[in-house]
Amino acid sequence: MEDVYHLRGVMTAAAMLFVTAGLPGLMLVYYGIVGITSDDLAVAADLRRRSEAASVEYKTDLEATFVQFQNAALSRLTSGQSVYTGQREIEDALRVVFRFDAEGALEPPFLQSTVYQLEDQQFLLFDTWQEALAAERDQRWDRAAALYMQAARQTRSKRDRARCMYNRARALDRAGQGRDAEALWRQLIEEQGRDLYGFRVGDLARLELAQTRLKRDPAGGQDDLRFLADALLADNWEIGRGGEAAVARRAIELLPSSDWTARARGRVDERSSQLYWAERLQPELDSLGARGRLLRANSGSFVYNKTDTALWATTWTDSDQYVFALEFERLLDRERLAAATVGGPDGDIRATLVGPDATVPGEVLARASLAPWLPNWSVVVGPRDPAGLATQQADKRTRGIGIVLISVAMIALGLGLASRQVRRELESARDKSDFAAHVSHELRSPITQIRLKAEALQLGLAVDDASRNRHYDVIVRESERLSRLVDNILDFAAIEKGRKRYTFRIGDVGSTVARCVEQAGVAMETKAMKIDFEVPDDLPVIWHDADAVSQVMVNLLSNAAKYGQSAGWIGVQIRVAEGLAGPEVCVDVRDRGIGIAAGEQKQVFDQYYRSTDPLARSKKGTGIGLTIVRYIMEAHGGRVGIESTPGAGSTFTLHFPLSFVPPHGPGT
Ligand code: ADP
Repeated sequence: MEDVYHLRGVMTAAAMLFVTAGLPGLMLVYYGIVGITSDDLAVAADLRRRSEAASVEYKTDLEATFVQFQNAALSRLTSGQSVYTGQREIEDALRVVFRFDAEGALEPPFLQSTVYQLEDQQFLLFDTWQEALAAERDQRWDRAAALYMQAARQTRSKRDRARCMYNRARALDRAGQGRDAEALWRQLIEEQGRDLYGFRVGDLARLELAQTRLKRDPAGGQDDLRFLADALLADNWEIGRGGEAAVARRAIELLPSSDWTARARGRVDERSSQLYWAERLQPELDSLGARGRLLRANSGSFVYNKTDTALWATTWTDSDQYVFALEFERLLDRERLAAATVGGPDGDIRATLVGPDATVPGEVLARASLAPWLPNWSVVVGPRDPAGLATQQADKRTRGIGIVLISVAMIALGLGLASRQVRRELESARDKSDFAAHVSHELRSPITQIRLKAEALQLGLAVDDASRNRHYDVIVRESERLSRLVDNILDFAAIEKGRKRYTFRIGDVGSTVARCVEQAGVAMETKAMKIDFEVPDDLPVIWHDADAVSQVMVNLLSNAAKYGQSAGWIGVQIRVAEGLAGPEVCVDVRDRGIGIAAGEQKQVFDQYYRSTDPLARSKKGTGIGLTIVRYIMEAHGGRVGIESTPGAGSTFTLHFPLSFVPPHGPGT
């Protein structure tokens, strides 16, 4: 029946344990893991969402720049304004604009050079030309003029002849025959042929004329120069020929500087740069045109084509086709810079521009094609530092798991502590009820003995002296036991309530101990035992309560007798030793009895505690003797130590520190 109750109790406890700790623990682990994984997923989803948003944002920005360019270019064209001037206002990367007619032929101001290679300049090989040059170097101007005339006759090329005549005019001018020179220049003005340096001889002649006029008639000369520069700028420039720019620049240099010259110089510079790019881009333009791509654009809409150096934008307006060359590297640099700002400089995502052949760097979370603006290019967005992100994530996970585990461990620990406390309380309750049983038993047996022996004496049952004496001995021994027991119980009750009072006196603790040992020697219980007592002569005096110390000694000696009876020996030694807080008087009470297991050596000082050892249990006791010893020693500023080996015996040591002074004076 008891087993059934026990089983039910165990099951109830297990069920409670499961409900109060097991279930919350499991739920904590479950929700912890669910939380950690959903956290992981949320971080990944957030990164992807931000990457997608960043790629869209980047593309929108890119679109905006191109749309802006288109609108600016178209509005200029439709309003009849030139797109050649102020190109930078339209787009930074814009290098040159070409205009084609319906047939695909290049229109002004740039013209495709009809002659790509300069014609052979035969006259350079003529001896007369060389001689003329030598005469010029020697400043023999008449001779030089005559020789240039001769060279002009020798050549069959009209263009070569023009150059020879130009040089002759210059020699005549130097020779002082200005009029002849001027007449010659005037003839040459209509000459369109170019000399070996790419200059139109006609332009050079105009420049010379203007210069000669400048000497005679400065205002007129300046007009001529301005007129020349304007005419050159209004003219169509051939791709691959830079003479016009040089002549115009020279004409401007000859003029006194003014707003006009500054403006004109700016126009020449811009035109020169356009010409430079037109020349550089000519092969690419040819290849675009050759494949007929130029004709693909619709009116008012742009088509983009990428070649090695340029991004060509094509559109039709007013039956003319316009082709814009945007410098590709420049555009790309700018877009790379814009991509770098995606996600912020310290953000966790990064955008990269990826070309048609480039490999995608690292993990890609979002991608956007940049067509039609940058054909075959795309922007990819991914984590800036994937490894770092993974470590961060792993760290977070470890932390989360750690917190869950610690929480579960704390639940387990709390449970352990609580159950230990409950067990202790139960034990103490049991000890208390055991104590009551022990006390009543301890009280009853001496009283019964005393009464029995007293009655026997009263009735005269003890006939001789010897048996009468035995009866008296029992009565004395049992009364001693009774009074010791009552003393202990009263003392314990006082201690428990905190009402125990001490009367401290400074004195020789050795003599108190000696008196106890002496009394124990004659006491009935310890009579049969041999007590060895050692005390040094020069024992220092200490503050102590002699009655309390006697009670301590009586308890220790009676325990030594009780649990060491079979050995028949007790050793008591007083000595002075160096303690933890200075010198102290130590009293060892030694026996060779049953000893105390290591696990119990601390507990024996707890109230009501009695050893579980059956040998110790066979002795009568209440479990408060050592508790009283401990309290009294603490009241003396000292402690009681224990050294014991089961089966070999125990030593209890009282430590009285010399430094102890009663806290409230002698009587407390
Ligand atoms: P008790 O009245 O049971 O002796 P105590 O408080 O004096 O109570 O002692 C507590 C327990 O300590 C005892 O029950 C006993 O098991 C153990 N004990 C005390 N003194 C000794 C000793 N000298 N040898 C062995 N065991 C001892």
